[in-house]
Amino acid sequence: MHYHTIVIGAGPAGLFAAGQIGKSGRKVLVLEKNAQAGKKLLISGSGQCNFTHSGPIEHFFTRYGDHEKFIKGALTRFTNEDTIRFFEQAGISSETRENGKVFPKSSKSIDVLNALLMVCKKCNVEVKYNQGVSHIERYDGIFTLETQDGERYLADHVVVATGGKSFPHLGSTGDGYRLASALGHTVVEPRPALTYVTTHERTYCALSGISFKDAGVTLWHENKKQVERHGSLLFTHKGLSGPVILDATRWMMPGDQLTVNYLYPMTYEMVRDQFAKEIPERGKEGVLTYLKQFDTLTRSFCETVLEHLGIPNDQTCARLSKKEREMLVTELTRCTFNLSGIGGMNSAMVTAGGISLKEINPTTMESRKQKGLYCIGEVLDIDGDTGGYNIQAAFSTAYVCATHLAK
Ligand SMILES: Cc1cc2nc3c(=O)[nH]c(=O)nc-3n(C[C@H](O)[C@H](O)[C@H](O)COP(=O)(O)OP(=O)(O)OC[C@H]3O[C@@H](n4cnc5c(N)ncnc54)[C@H](O)[C@@H]3O)c2cc1C
Repeated sequence: MHYHTIVIGAGPAGLFAAGQIGKSGRKVLVLEKNAQAGKKLLISGSGQCNFTHSGPIEHFFTRYGDHEKFIKGALTRFTNEDTIRFFEQAGISSETRENGKVFPKSSKSIDVLNALLMVCKKCNVEVKYNQGVSHIERYDGIFTLETQDGERYLADHVVVATGGKSFPHLGSTGDGYRLASALGHTVVEPRPALTYVTTHERTYCALSGISFKDAGVTLWHENKKQVERHGSLLFTHKGLSGPVILDATRWMMPGDQLTVNYLYPMTYEMVRDQFAKEIPERGKEGVLTYLKQFDTLTRSFCETVLEHLGIPNDQTCARLSKKEREMLVTELTRCTFNLSGIGGMNSAMVTAGGISLKEINPTTMESRKQKGLYCIGEVLDIDGDTGGYNIQAAFSTAYVCATHLAK
């Protein structure tokens, strides 16, 4: 029962790390709480597993909120190309879709999971299921791990790969935070990320399902600009969603404001000047017809905008007052939404927050608080954008840890 390394959690981070350490001939055990491995991995990418993204690895650096500095080294040492190569060697070829997302060619997440398990098996890594670790202690340089059923295991090194707190029914219930804090770690408050938002304004809720391919979104906290992004935006029956919203949720709090520019990349000033020049020249042409020249604005959206502003649907350009024109420009380029809520942990694809990065060495993933303890994957205070960035971070942090432990 004494191992060189015990990995807690059989998600992508834990399994990948275990396989890589196992390759060096070390005695490795994975303890998994569930009756099966990788439950979250199996549902990722709608069951197809978007395991990384295409393009130069430098483009990944800005995809992890404010944590570029920490994650950069790991991503550089185990890149998206390395991930693709790893799976190719395991017999899983990949395909890059139009939006740059990389999936297994079979579109089956089970193939990705099986490849990870196969490497573990080949390297004699033991994987034990229904073994939820509830307690860790370190005495005389040796870790003792105790499970919920009272089983005990000893190890020289422990890797915490227990994931975050989102989708808790899949096994990630925040145990890693408790285990690490008991060993002296600080946990940055876990928050739901990559989720939808609800808004006080319900103007566009009837248009639920309508999306904009490239809308500009600015987040404001107490009237201070937090972040500006652009991308695909979706109206929902209670607020907003779509990648541009999901990617910004890591910074959002109820009470914050969002301003949406439906005519991005045109700015407020550009639209104001264009409307001021063109609308008075259009005479009897309907305002609705004028607005339809903008490809991104659907008829139902324009009708809702006019109704919301109290402008009749059949208003002609000639009769549109200056005030109405300005209201129209503001609604189309600086449409304001007050956030009433952020989707909870049951709908968040990842957890923002987690084990503080200040206490982890980014070149090894070893704890600066407890020698021999390592933390990898989503349990860390790292969350990536949608598009394969989270699973890539799980592999990259696992690789850095494993190469250090395999030495
Ligand atoms: C619906 C959904 C879709 C997603 N789609 C994508 C996608 O397409 N691309 C992408 O990059 N990311 C995606 N993600 C995010 C991605 O799945 C996670 O970031 C990734 O799985 C994190 O890997 P991990 O190994 O760190 O943690 P997890 O995958 O959460 O694995 C942690 C493991 O640890 C186990 N565990 C927890 N506590 C204990 C304990 N006390 N003892 C023993 N075991 C324990 C858990 O049961 C679990 O098996 C998605 C997430 C969700 C919810």
